Amino acid sequence: MSRTLFVTTALPYANGPFHIGHMLEYIQADIWVRFQRMQGATVDFVCADDAHGAAITIAADKEGITPQAFVAKIAAGRAQYLQGFHIAFDNWHSTDGPENHQLAQEIYRDLRSAGLIETRSVEQFYDPEKRMFLADRFIKGECPNCHSKDQYGDNCEVCGAVYAPTALINPYSALSGAKPELRSSDHFFFKLSDPRCEAFLQQWTAAPGHVQPEVQNKIREWLYKDAEGKGGLGDWDISRDAPYFGIEIPDAPGKYFYVWLDAPVGYLASLKNLLDKRGEDYAAYMGRPGLEQVHFIGKDIITFHTLFWPAMLHFSGRKAPDAIYVHGHLTVNGEKMSKSRGTGIDPLRYLSLGLNPEHLRYYLAAKLSGRNEDIDFNSEDFAARVNSDLVGKYINIASRAAGFLSKRFGGQLAAADAEGATLLQTLQAAAPEIAALYDNRDTSRALRDVMALADRVNEYVDQNKPWDLAKQQGMDERLQAVCSTCIQAFRLLTVYLKPVLPALAARVEAFLAIAPLQSGDAAELLPAGHAIAPYQHLMQRVDPKLLEQLFDAPAPLAAQPAAASAGASKASSAAAPGAVAAAADGAASDAVAPGGEPIAATIGIDDFAKIDLRIARIVNCEEVEGSTKLLRLTLDVGEGRHRNVFSGIKSMYKPEDLVGKLTVMVANLAPRKMKFGVSEGMVLAASHADSKVDAGIHVLEPWPGAQPGMRVG
Ligand SMILES: [Zn+2]
Repeated sequence: MSRTLFVTTALPYANGPFHIGHMLEYIQADIWVRFQRMQGATVDFVCADDAHGAAITIAADKEGITPQAFVAKIAAGRAQYLQGFHIAFDNWHSTDGPENHQLAQEIYRDLRSAGLIETRSVEQFYDPEKRMFLADRFIKGECPNCHSKDQYGDNCEVCGAVYAPTALINPYSALSGAKPELRSSDHFFFKLSDPRCEAFLQQWTAAPGHVQPEVQNKIREWLYKDAEGKGGLGDWDISRDAPYFGIEIPDAPGKYFYVWLDAPVGYLASLKNLLDKRGEDYAAYMGRPGLEQVHFIGKDIITFHTLFWPAMLHFSGRKAPDAIYVHGHLTVNGEKMSKSRGTGIDPLRYLSLGLNPEHLRYYLAAKLSGRNEDIDFNSEDFAARVNSDLVGKYINIASRAAGFLSKRFGGQLAAADAEGATLLQTLQAAAPEIAALYDNRDTSRALRDVMALADRVNEYVDQNKPWDLAKQQGMDERLQAVCSTCIQAFRLLTVYLKPVLPALAARVEAFLAIAPLQSGDAAELLPAGHAIAPYQHLMQRVDPKLLEQLFDAPAPLAAQPAAASAGASKASSAAAPGAVAAAADGAASDAVAPGGEPIAATIGIDDFAKIDLRIARIVNCEEVEGSTKLLRLTLDVGEGRHRNVFSGIKSMYKPEDLVGKLTVMVANLAPRKMKFGVSEGMVLAASHADSKVDAGIHVLEPWPGAQPGMRVG
């Protein structure tokens, strides 16, 4: 029976753009989801921005906007990362959505009915000038441990100590600078110390499959009392006093849920939002027998997900999760991630440099074992592994065999000979083991197994030497059989690699002229007589120069938070193409200003080389509903996939004027989210700098002979 899965990643906190750690988690979950779908499972894969809490309020205040507007800006920057790395969530929502308000309040009411909510008076710092209770983040002072100044109320960023705000030396309000007073306030607690909770969580966390064994060991330290009856779970303070950006607690004016109460409810809210869009019933969905609820998280939020969250769900009469999959943290070239500096890898910079997103997917997958372990991104190892495994072992098989089939046999496959048939059986027989490894998220072993199979195929090629056979008289039949075996093997390896390399797999499917591959397709081979398309280059090696640039001092693009770039793109989106938008200033110079603007400042050849101009074929062009300026172009730059580019040329061209024509595009411009979708590059066009001069907009077209993908320079 095929599985029904509801899968989430942890909700990212909406106070900044994604870093490489987010991409690690999303890529791990995306690979797992793609694998399950290839196995025939029905999967809903959702996420959302975690929008509430004091840190969001602080960040929004700094920019002088509302928390809602701040979160919306962050959310607008998400798509370029997700699309860029082929992470295919079915829905992206926000914990400030109405579904989350409703669900969080319902869950709270049900917990209250179960007798698990208690009110207690708590001593807390109060700002007498601002007249509000201060969240930990709003209190600063001297670290009681290392005596560093200006540390937050919950932990010291210098020595890492964790403490209560009342332990700070000379505390002051970060809002007003005033000395805070201790005042009492009623807080709401979720009674995790209740024997019912203890019994349930001891049983739930120990049941097989719910948490990894190494995580289980960690949980025992928190969950079980020691020999003297000390330790065990304490009650959880789930309320904060107004003003607080969050969800109001029912029947308690001025009280809000602590952000960690409503954050995981956001998983359900995003699902409900998706189901509403589809016209499906949420309650019926959650009640489906066999539905599995799976959360991928990082090791820093284990307590919330393995203790608080299952208890919240269970005692509110809901279904507890079926599995919490914890991954470790990512270090880069051996360095821990710094909160202020991030790591050496900015995901957008990675994309904008033109590094292949599937190289990163492959490398991370090759490191992830499915256990709660830290992994390291090592740039030398990255280049070596991608180049030797993916290109040297896997892609090489197709490139060595396909040319002979196309040139000599019209692309047609023949039956394998006896030796080839044995090899293919070996590859097919590996399917159950590889599937089990993917299911356990042990992608490092899965990929090791796949590459070992690729080694076997390359040995077969070396022994049978198709390049020699091609030169010999009367060996046509053998040549065709050997090359056909290679292509069959390449197809089987592609089935095994597809969850990790979805875009590459799509190009392989086009090359092999086959339907999208599913796991079950490994059980069969392509029939003799099946014709493949001519081989096109499928994947390039890692360019060491680009990799070096990734670790150079961040360019302005990398330094700029997604929020800022989202705002910038909104301002300029009406004025694409950039060649047109660049105008305006400087036209008033006394010097001759060709085209209405002086020639720009001199640059070196290195600066020019950063701009990757390519010949593109306009395979489709259409009007953009709701835009008077833009046309939507579908461009082929010879990458085996198409690009979507918006261009402000509607005033000059009808879509049918452009379809089939060649033009020049900036191929390495960072993808830009616009009102109508993501623009993946820019088409070059000429225009006068002064829009009042009616000189038109003219798209560039190369002379005859240019082919899509050729570099312009
Ligand atoms: Zn300290």
